[in-house]
Amino acid sequence: MMSLGVIRSHAINFLADSKFARAIYYDHSTIVESGLLDLKNKEHQLIFAKMIKHLRALPLEGLGIVPNLDAKFMKNPKTNGPPSNKIFEHPQGSLFTFPYKDGKTRTVHLKRVLFCSHGIIGRGTIVIRVECACVGCGSHCDWAGKNIVLKLSFPGETQVSEQTFMDRCREMAQDEHVWVLDHLPSIYWSFNIPFCKGLPQKNFKKKYDKQYEMRIMQGSIQEELQLLTSLTTTRECAQVFYDVVQCHHWAWNYPQILHRDISPGNIMVRKKNGEKVGVLNDWDLAIWVNDLRDGPTSKFRTGTTPYMAHEQHFTAWKGPHRYHHNMESVFYVILLLTCLCSSPSEKLPTPPKTDYSYETWHMEGNDSL
Ligand SMILES: [Zn+2]
Repeated sequence: MMSLGVIRSHAINFLADSKFARAIYYDHSTIVESGLLDLKNKEHQLIFAKMIKHLRALPLEGLGIVPNLDAKFMKNPKTNGPPSNKIFEHPQGSLFTFPYKDGKTRTVHLKRVLFCSHGIIGRGTIVIRVECACVGCGSHCDWAGKNIVLKLSFPGETQVSEQTFMDRCREMAQDEHVWVLDHLPSIYWSFNIPFCKGLPQKNFKKKYDKQYEMRIMQGSIQEELQLLTSLTTTRECAQVFYDVVQCHHWAWNYPQILHRDISPGNIMVRKKNGEKVGVLNDWDLAIWVNDLRDGPTSKFRTGTTPYMAHEQHFTAWKGPHRYHHNMESVFYVILLLTCLCSSPSEKLPTPPKTDYSYETWHMEGNDSL
């Protein structure tokens, strides 16, 4: 619901059958359900009608559409319905405007959605291929001719941003460390958009205080990288995994950052001088190694199933996330890739039905671990 279609900070839905109805509010921190409304009860009918009326009166941001999104298809349903197949392309294009240097703004055309995380709770990261929409975009523009993406996520207010971690890496990547830059994402610009007053997030924070995690909308413009599935040979594959493990070790050892979310979606590929190199991408869930010493926090359980380390699946496990958990995740990525695929881009049509195929683990989640 919040992963497909228009980019949302929250969503409001009704579940109804012939007898009952219930309103449900979803955002990246919580789910809130209304009481059950009996549609045969006159008073409940009135409440239901009032809820619909109030929703109709809300501005787009109140309905959860992210600020500064100029989605033309939403304004003219006769020409185009809501987006399908994850494509935001429209004759006039959808535009997104965000804060830039010196109080200025910049605008990009939204193209294809390259990645969106499924599930309602969490960061809800979305990556969209974009083009700069500046007037006469050409040689005067620093983004002209570059393959760029817009990445939007909804981290907790206190989470250190990917940009901060990458700035630290760049500071340290001097002289004999300069090689590591080939294996880190290139962020051209990043920005934050807080949820403004009047939106449900602020009201929930006021009502539930520490029980509700306040989030911000965080965005960045980054270089577009290739997916792991773009690899074609075993040599390329070996190189990419080697690069990612080296980069992960360097980040832990020098700027002292622990990644905490190794999955195939975060192991990316960059073409450099005709060679494919591995990039350890998406540092949104990373943490300073020093902060790990502060003991367990509410955010110790990070990662992507089914690649999380074995120990992390147990409810009794209280963290902290360690270096070896990430190495275990790299192992699972390689294990599942080699067992379930005939090449990085091709899944085996019928994986071998042996006890060692790992198909159930991949498809059916933690219960089958
Ligand atoms: Zn431009």
